[in-house]
Amino acid sequence: MKRLLTGFLIATAWIASGAEPRHFAKVQSFALGEARWTSGFWAERFELCRTNTLPALGRLMEGTNYSQFFRNFEIAAGFAEGRYRGAPFNDGELYKLMQAASAAYAVSPSDYFRQNLDRAIEVIAKAQRADGYIHTPVLVAQRNGDTNAVPFKDRNNFEMYNLGHLMTAACVHHQATGETNLLGVAIKAADFLCRTFADTTPEVARSSICPSHYMGIIDLYRETGDARYLELAKKFFALRSEIKDGGDDNQDRIPFGQQTNAMGHAVRANYLYAGATDLFMETGDTNLWRPLEPIWRNLTEQKMYITGGCGALYDGASPYGSKDQKNITRTHQAYGHNYELPNTTAHNETCANIGNVLWNWRMFLATGEARFVDVLELALHNSVLSGVSLDGTNFFYTNPLRVTDPLPTELRWSREREPFVSSFCCPPNLVRTIAGSAQFAYAKSAETIWVNLYGASQLEAELPGVGKIKLVQETEYPWSGRVHINIQSAPEKEFALKLRFPGWANDTQVRVNLRPSARGREPAPSSNELSQSRLTSAATYHEIRRIWKSGDIVDLDLGMKTQLLEANPLVEETLGQIAVRRGPIVYCLESVDLPKGVKPLDVFISPSIQFRARYDQRLLGGVALLEGPAFMRTNSDWTGRLYRERQPVQPTPLQLRLVPYSVWANRGPGEMSVWLPCSQR
Ligand SMILES: [Zn+2]
Repeated sequence: MKRLLTGFLIATAWIASGAEPRHFAKVQSFALGEARWTSGFWAERFELCRTNTLPALGRLMEGTNYSQFFRNFEIAAGFAEGRYRGAPFNDGELYKLMQAASAAYAVSPSDYFRQNLDRAIEVIAKAQRADGYIHTPVLVAQRNGDTNAVPFKDRNNFEMYNLGHLMTAACVHHQATGETNLLGVAIKAADFLCRTFADTTPEVARSSICPSHYMGIIDLYRETGDARYLELAKKFFALRSEIKDGGDDNQDRIPFGQQTNAMGHAVRANYLYAGATDLFMETGDTNLWRPLEPIWRNLTEQKMYITGGCGALYDGASPYGSKDQKNITRTHQAYGHNYELPNTTAHNETCANIGNVLWNWRMFLATGEARFVDVLELALHNSVLSGVSLDGTNFFYTNPLRVTDPLPTELRWSREREPFVSSFCCPPNLVRTIAGSAQFAYAKSAETIWVNLYGASQLEAELPGVGKIKLVQETEYPWSGRVHINIQSAPEKEFALKLRFPGWANDTQVRVNLRPSARGREPAPSSNELSQSRLTSAATYHEIRRIWKSGDIVDLDLGMKTQLLEANPLVEETLGQIAVRRGPIVYCLESVDLPKGVKPLDVFISPSIQFRARYDQRLLGGVALLEGPAFMRTNSDWTGRLYRERQPVQPTPLQLRLVPYSVWANRGPGEMSVWLPCSQR
């Protein structure tokens, strides 16, 4: 087998050149490994991911205690005997883990990752059928003599999901290692799909459950430059429109080009929108672009949680197409009606929130507009990171905004993080997101570097037509809004830095070449400063274009303040309540921070509350807490009662402590709320 693989590697050695990516995008991403986190918030999360979460998930997926991931491939390859075990999307989860290991390897090479990846790839390549088909539920059944097991028989079998993740993982692996062993598997699989979809039916197209394959096939097109894969992506989308009996759960009741609302299963929806944006960036097809802006507005103006979470409803019916009862579609973990955003029963699967990141990243690349990075940042810092515990080994499937004890209704998913959940898609999705997160921090266009995310980091890259650049970002963001960017190595040619001014920033200042100031002190004015100050209401990029010199310094102060937020009154679930945000971080109140017996909903705060931000490095891995005076009232027993005559309450003063939402539920079981009752004065 080794000899065969070696021959294949030689045959595909031309691949390294790759395609000219995203012809219709305004901005391009930097290559894997060119940007990296160096210290603080994101570097700590990257290190935890690399040293704890990735190895823990590797052991879990190699083992058979909870489910089978790697073993299914070993059986399919003939290295072990047995039956398929686990969810039909388990293959895709192993590929996602391999993508994460590759992304971590690109930043921090280690033999551990390289050897484990090579070992897994050898088995995966052996499991793949000669015609390129690879999906272990079917392959294992065939090996065990099941003649009914054939490709694409069951639309809920997640074949395209698995294959999509294979393609993306293979591209990241190729970029990280320069090796083509996994890329070769992905190419064979894609060629199988080219043949399968050359003359196919919409029924096969309906296999597009949780469509990671739009992103995957376009990744493969960019990596190989093979135009057949772009044609295949176009075909996938064209086939969607021919589906006659689809539903909103899978976003295929009406053709994509006619859609204007975020609808249905939120992971499927966000993956579809991300894939459509990818295809738009390669084709410039306005039919693909037209639905994306109204869907994005519907999501961010009517359906997204304040944490960036997506998918309000556990189970329900789609609000669209329902005037005719025959068209009612059952939906689950879905976008519901506009403004329908319950807190306790919020679904917000971690994968849906990651899908929000994936989509907004692509919308930013397509347009260069800061509003998309604002949403990406919001989701990433809140409803994505909330999916993993501070020790990196326990996970949420859903991310509610409130937990009460007892729960008012029985729910399917746990209110505590667990090492394994039956739908084990979120943990490997989290690790690939965190392992690759530095790629979101910067981007490039002609003679321009875009600074998107703030966090201690460095970028070392060649800017086409300009030259080599190295810049270092020092900051305690997201706990502080002060950012210090040092141009350590500058080319002779002029280029621009575009700094994102987030929508929440309300007094942003930028200075160039001011002497570095001591942390926490107001910098002194300087005669050669370039200073900008403004009140911000919408996210923008601030451009500084000049001939930079090595040692030039940019000081940015985003004016980070604690903000009290209220929701549109049509969000009935949050009437009379406020949420608290500081910078990109949304806060919550946990019962562990309250006197014994007091519940988060017993607390109410005044709209004039003055919070004090205090960094505590001993609590929750080091976070900025918000502290301030509030009140509590004893909310007497409601057992057996739905309504009662209003009872007067005597408020008692209370010192309140709020913690970032992303780190809730790390101190044992308890209650939590993002939205807090608010008095009128
Ligand atoms: Zn998931």
